Amino acid sequence: MKIEFSAEDEAFRAEVKAFLQEKLTPDMRAEARKTTTVFADKALAMRWQLILVEKGWAVPTWPVEHGGTGWSITKKYIFNEELAKAGAPGLIPLGLRMLAPVLFKYGTQAQKEYYLPRMLSGEHYWCQGYSEPGSGSDLSSLKTSAVKDGDDYIINGTKIWTTHAQFADHIFCLVRTDPTVRPQKGISFILVPMNLPGIKVEPIITMAADHEVNQVFFDDVRVPQGNRVGPENEGWTLAKYLLEYERGGGAASAGIKVSLAELESIATKERDGGTALIEDAHFRGRLSDLEIRTEGLEFAELVTLSKLSRGESPGAGSSLAKNTSVEINQALTTLKMEAIHYYALPHANLISLNGHDEPWVGPDYAETVTARYLNARASSIFGGAKEVQKNIIAKTVLGL
Ligand SMILES: Cc1cc2nc3c(=O)[nH]c(=O)nc-3n(C[C@H](O)[C@H](O)[C@H](O)COP(=O)(O)OP(=O)(O)OC[C@H]3O[C@@H](n4cnc5c(N)ncnc54)[C@H](O)[C@@H]3O)c2cc1C
Repeated sequence: MKIEFSAEDEAFRAEVKAFLQEKLTPDMRAEARKTTTVFADKALAMRWQLILVEKGWAVPTWPVEHGGTGWSITKKYIFNEELAKAGAPGLIPLGLRMLAPVLFKYGTQAQKEYYLPRMLSGEHYWCQGYSEPGSGSDLSSLKTSAVKDGDDYIINGTKIWTTHAQFADHIFCLVRTDPTVRPQKGISFILVPMNLPGIKVEPIITMAADHEVNQVFFDDVRVPQGNRVGPENEGWTLAKYLLEYERGGGAASAGIKVSLAELESIATKERDGGTALIEDAHFRGRLSDLEIRTEGLEFAELVTLSKLSRGESPGAGSSLAKNTSVEINQALTTLKMEAIHYYALPHANLISLNGHDEPWVGPDYAETVTARYLNARASSIFGGAKEVQKNIIAKTVLGL
């Protein structure tokens, strides 16, 4: 398939490029290039978010009345592609791309008016309280309880693997509001300020030596019932709706293409014996395989983009897109590790964690490879493990 762009679309691309040239400063690009975690650094992401908000380009997929751009699918595609090519930091999706669609569909007018502008301005920074120790894939078994007391709920329990909870001032949580019915029927979706008495956040350091995830404890935390989104005990419907956006609402292929180009460039510099790696038939075969799969992913993402533009949710195809992008990214980061040979051994994050501050010893292109390789292992777990996505695909897409 060949994609052709109209003169109007090409003019739009030129406008995006000019904007990025002016606003995405070299220091922001350099910092974004050093990102090794799933999400960009909070300060960097928020700085970039505010620049995009000022331009009106922060949330292209939102309804226009709430700040969306109303762009065609092609323009959204071009925008994503140019952001990735320019090395722009990713915006943190927890509020903008995960909670926001839930509020559009299930929130009251008052909740939309209160939360959405604050999400955009950065006044509110969100994290996701779904998983618990013992309730990950089997999420509906969650135990954190919310018991009514006057106009409030009293919340007790714990959430785990909570990304960026150390930065967040709000958490959207799944809580059990009726323990007497079947698991999926007694869950509610609630919005909780993190500064309430009784909330404690403890860090978890990953094998990549990053502090990205946490455990959050709730000890008699009092939250107004008005903070619940959707009807009581029907939070499971909202939970699943949000997960469709978490798994398939993005455009991973644009970033993967940039990373593939980096790998190709590394392979022209690194040598295997006397020849450049790029001349090695086995290596080229693996690289081509990834390029072909990325093109397939890109078209699947375009289908999702067109659904979002029609006001539909990503649907179960999001599980297919998630697994495909994860498989490509894990294979790609593995191939990069192999390409840089012994430069994969020193790992800047681990070195600094152990209190050392030696400068990086290898070429620039190798500095973040190991940390990214390690971090990418988590992608087949978060947002729903790979095997669980396969079960969804089997049931919902293939009808098995
Ligand atoms: C880096 C990272 C960030 C995360 N961020 C967040 C966050 O911000 N908020 C949040 O709420 N959660 C977050 N999570 C948690 C994530 O959603 C869970 O880890 C995930 O759902 C898997 O649950 P689990 O860890 O309990 O593993 P388990 O559910 O115990 O799974 C263990 C293994 O068993 C397999 N398995 C389980 N059930 C089945 C089945 N029915 N069929 C086949 N295989 C099965 C799984 O695929 C997996 O390989 C994060 C996780 C990671 C790693």
